[in-house]
Amino acid sequence: MSAADRHAWTEPGVEDLGGGVYRIPLPIPIDGLKAVNIYAIADDQGIDLIDDGIALVRARERLTGGLRQIGYELGDIRNFFVTHVHIDHYSLAVELRQTLRNVIAMGEGERANLVALREMIRSPRSRIYGGDLHRLGAAELAASLTIERQSRGMPMFTDWEDPDRWLTDGAELDLRSRMLRAVHTPGHTRGHVIFHDPAARIMFAGDHVLPHITPSIGFEAAYHRMALRDYLSSLRRTLMLPDARLLPAHGPVTGSTHDRVNELLAHHDLRLAEIHQAVLAGHATAYEVAKSIKWTRSQRLFSELDLMSQFLAVNEAGAHLEVLTIRGQLAREVSGDGIDLYQPAPVPRR
Ligand SMILES: [Zn+2]
Repeated sequence: MSAADRHAWTEPGVEDLGGGVYRIPLPIPIDGLKAVNIYAIADDQGIDLIDDGIALVRARERLTGGLRQIGYELGDIRNFFVTHVHIDHYSLAVELRQTLRNVIAMGEGERANLVALREMIRSPRSRIYGGDLHRLGAAELAASLTIERQSRGMPMFTDWEDPDRWLTDGAELDLRSRMLRAVHTPGHTRGHVIFHDPAARIMFAGDHVLPHITPSIGFEAAYHRMALRDYLSSLRRTLMLPDARLLPAHGPVTGSTHDRVNELLAHHDLRLAEIHQAVLAGHATAYEVAKSIKWTRSQRLFSELDLMSQFLAVNEAGAHLEVLTIRGQLAREVSGDGIDLYQPAPVPRR
């Protein structure tokens, strides 16, 4: 696939997916992603949106333009059904609600992340998401990362307000044109949900299943060590649902959610084996492991990644090390200065 084809889905406009469902990509200032897909579900009375973009003027304008193209205004939005709390999915919905009074619904598992986000805003020390870089053995990355985030044009979004409605696992959303079921799929974040329409065989997958990239794991304000274990079970749970067209938040719409889930499971199996090998070869921290393996589909060296991707790579390595530890293949101990050190698990005595 050429680079042009690979990014075709980010082109401004509206894609009609049939049945009153439209894909509207909105711009985001994150290099690796470029855009986030919003899905509008329209009927003669108004629209409901799956996810919303980032609280930036150009995203809001692109959304306004997209809705006009299909005959609606921002004021016609009844509900935002948000897959997870990340800024590129949630912040524009919160901003629009301040004037338009639309209703926001999100998975109840995101409550902890909103509490942690508000805590981060109150605390004068700026912290970053995900695993603590010190604990992962990558303290040297932390300082440069803070500076880089400030220079990337990410908005300083501070209005981390609660949604109007917390969705429980299995909640049924009775829209005018269809019934959607919210399915809790923790991993990408602890409260991530997908919205499944079994009758129409479509799945609004958020960032749980992406067609071109592997979603980051546990990159969230309320960090927890078991994010990858949760993610792998969420992937297996997705296979238990009937197969459906994949409507992802980043990337083009593709034909089968199951096909991509199987690829993602295979990817993580390989990664787990590779990271196990790295520890057998003597790399003891998440940072050392991350530096010793190749990243992205183009097999890049850790040193070739931008700072944000380096951080995500270290976090990712840490998440795999934890799964290997709960599987009994590795043992973890904490060094005197608070760094997680991994080694091959001792062979059990008979
Ligand atoms: Zn996203």
